Amino acid sequence: MSETASTPVQLTRKPHKPKSVPAPGAGKTACIRTFGCQMNVHDSDRMRRMILDAGYAEVPRYEDADLVILNTCYVRENAVDRVRGHLGELTRLRREGRLKKVALAGCIGAAEESETLRRQFGIDLVLGTHNTYELAEFVGLPTMEETYTPELPGTEGDHSSFVTIMTGCNYQCSYCIVPTVRGRMVCRSKESILGEVDRLVAGGTGYVTLLGQTVDAWRQDGERFCDLLEAVSERAPRVWFTTSHPSNMEDRTLRAIGERDTIVERLHLPVQSGSDRMLKVMHRGYKAERYRRKIEIFRESAPEGTLSTDIIVGHPGETEGDHEETLRLVEDCAFDSAYVFKFSPRDGTEAATLGEPVAPEVAQRRFVEVLRAVEGNALSRNRRKVGGVEEVYVRHGANEDGRAVGETWTGHAVHLRTDASPGEYVRARIDSAGPHALYGSVLPDGTG
Ligand code: SF4
Repeated sequence: MSETASTPVQLTRKPHKPKSVPAPGAGKTACIRTFGCQMNVHDSDRMRRMILDAGYAEVPRYEDADLVILNTCYVRENAVDRVRGHLGELTRLRREGRLKKVALAGCIGAAEESETLRRQFGIDLVLGTHNTYELAEFVGLPTMEETYTPELPGTEGDHSSFVTIMTGCNYQCSYCIVPTVRGRMVCRSKESILGEVDRLVAGGTGYVTLLGQTVDAWRQDGERFCDLLEAVSERAPRVWFTTSHPSNMEDRTLRAIGERDTIVERLHLPVQSGSDRMLKVMHRGYKAERYRRKIEIFRESAPEGTLSTDIIVGHPGETEGDHEETLRLVEDCAFDSAYVFKFSPRDGTEAATLGEPVAPEVAQRRFVEVLRAVEGNALSRNRRKVGGVEEVYVRHGANEDGRAVGETWTGHAVHLRTDASPGEYVRARIDSAGPHALYGSVLPDGTG
């Protein structure tokens, strides 16, 4: 049996309101502040849709808002302290009569600390990650029942949209709080996902990112992630997915990345450590050699594609030998980028109970060594692109310096001067390269 939800309850995209009745939030303002990962960015989009439907206008500053929603992350060190700082500021504004209501959402909303925070700061609404829909009622919309996956489109009409295909996680990595705050994996039905993709594309979305904590673990009635990815790649003009888990990553998915014209040749596959001993301590469920084999297939499938990963240094028990194995793996895989984290214990995780952490100065040295190794590889790989011509998808339009940021079909970030809008493609020559990005200039139409 696949782990899918019961039949999703179809929500109306825009609740119908009798014409003569003003929207419940008409004339009010709301500010949403998002912390953390892309799942949170996506959840914020859904909440934004609800407040806009209720008639609120969105404002960027706390002091201009009637309602502030903090959509929080629990993963990084000091996450709760950071949110406390924001809540303190909001309490002050409320005392001055400049703010009316505060909602706490996201991973901290789902964690035990939320009750203490609610009492301490008089928070009006606390939402976990599974009941975001309750915000609808709070802002005056008809109560909406919602399954784990939203039927509310997130960023419909925008040039680029996230589509959540699964939530939660069935792994129990030693250092990770996600299974506690987001629960076990639940997959959204293929029908519902493809329906949303079709609506988004019809509404002008040119780039769809499939989203999930372990996105490649998606399955339904004998179909697996690759089947879904192929179906989406036939409907959307540009597709990417994140975050994957090495144990779920099938060879055929890696091959599809190279074969399918609409899939961006960019793979984010967190490895965390190059040492089998540490991978076991972390409960990652694979060995370094298996990870290397996956990467070989990806490189064969998409030789110019970009590969990124997550690495944790200084996990309790990590020896110098373990660290050297991580450095060896970094060399072998030649990552194009990596998110390198120094271990920090999270309450409620197994790693927080594993005894003496690695000394801070040792963790710092290992952090720098891994980062340098990644950047060295990335720079030499990026330099190979210099002089080439690339089709670049504009992700962020020009800033005040006139520089826009785009992405090649191989997943490289490109900084370039253009007044093209987000979602448009330009042809650019790559002039130079750094460890994190390429720098290009747009070619006149039809050249290159
Ligand atoms: S796979 Fe591990 S690190 Fe990723 S969300 Fe699940 S428990 Fe956390």
